[in-house]
Amino acid sequence: MADSPIPGGDTPEQRIVNPLCERETINALRKQFGFAFNKGLGQNFLVNPRIPWQIVQEADIDASWGVLEIGPGIGCLTYELAQHAGRVAAVEIDAALLPILEQTLPFDNVHVVHADFMDLNLADWLPSQFGDRPVAVVANLPYYITTPILMRLLEQAPPQLRRIVVMVQREVAVRLCAPSGSPEGGAISLAVEYRSLPRILFRVPPGCFMPAPKVESAVVRMDLRTSPAVSCSNPDAMFRLIRQGFGQRRKTLVNALGNQGPFSKALLGDALDALHLARDIRAERMTLSQFAALTDFLLNHACPDGGAVL
Ligand code: SAM
Repeated sequence: MADSPIPGGDTPEQRIVNPLCERETINALRKQFGFAFNKGLGQNFLVNPRIPWQIVQEADIDASWGVLEIGPGIGCLTYELAQHAGRVAAVEIDAALLPILEQTLPFDNVHVVHADFMDLNLADWLPSQFGDRPVAVVANLPYYITTPILMRLLEQAPPQLRRIVVMVQREVAVRLCAPSGSPEGGAISLAVEYRSLPRILFRVPPGCFMPAPKVESAVVRMDLRTSPAVSCSNPDAMFRLIRQGFGQRRKTLVNALGNQGPFSKALLGDALDALHLARDIRAERMTLSQFAALTDFLLNHACPDGGAVL
C-alpha cells in the first residue's frame, strides 16, 4: 500500500475502542493533573483510535517481541502495544506526563522510563530492557527531532532491533523512502537505505491529532537488513562524505567536498572519472553504491591509514 490514506472505514462493526484516544479523556486528564501541551516537545496526541490500532497491526509483532516506544504522551499507542507485545518500554521526556501514565497504563508488560531518548546508549539499553527478544521501535515521533532519533536508531541499535514503524511528517516520510539518486533524497535517505528496507504505509490528516499540527503525517515501516545494502571499507567515512555532500547540495560534489575536508578537487575529479561519473555531479544524483565506491577510491588513494583524517 503506497502512501494511501488511512486504511479501512469507520463503520460501526469496525469501531475500535481505545479510551486514551478520546478528546474527552485527554481533556479530563488535563484538568485532573493540570497538564498543558508542550509545543516545544512536539506534543500532538492521537485522537482517532483507528490510527494506533492500524500502526500496531502493521508493526506485525507478537508476545515474543519487545517494543520501544519513544514518547508515549498519555499512552494511546502504548495501550494498543500492550495488547500485542511481550514487553513495552515507553521512554517519555516530559515529567508532567509520568503521573498521568501511571494512571492510564495499568499493564504488567508496560514500563514507562523517564528519559530523553537521545541520552540512551542503545547498545547497552536495549538488551537491559528486552534481554534477547527481537525489538521493534513503534512511535508517533516528536517532529522537532525526527531525523536525530532515526539516525541514532540506524547507527547505534544492536542487531536485535528488527523493525521501525513510525509516524512522521509526510514530506519526511517521502524523503526517508526516496531511493538514492532521486531528487527527493537527503543524507537520511541513504542512511535508511543502507540499514533498512523502507516503505510508506498510510497518510494521516491533521484532524487525527490534538492539537492538530499544520502538516499532514504518514506512517513509515523500515525493516532492518541483516547486512548493509552496500559494502564499503569505512562506512563512517562514507557517511561523513554523504553529510558533507548534502550539506551543500546545490554545489557539485567536487566543490562541496573539495572546499572542506582532506581531499583536493583534483583527486575528487580523478575519483569521479575512475567511477565513470560526471565531474559536475551533485550529491543528490549519487546512489549509495556510488558513494561507497567513491569512499573506497578516496581512502585508497589519499589515506593509507584507512580514513582517520576524513
Ligand atoms: N504517543 C503519543 C500519541 O501518539 O498520542 C504522543 C506522541 S507526541 C507526537 C510525541 C511525544 O514524545 C510527546 O509525549 C513528547 O513529550 C515526547 N518526547 C519529545 N521529545 C522526546 C525525547 N527527546 N525523548 C522522549 N520523549 C520525547
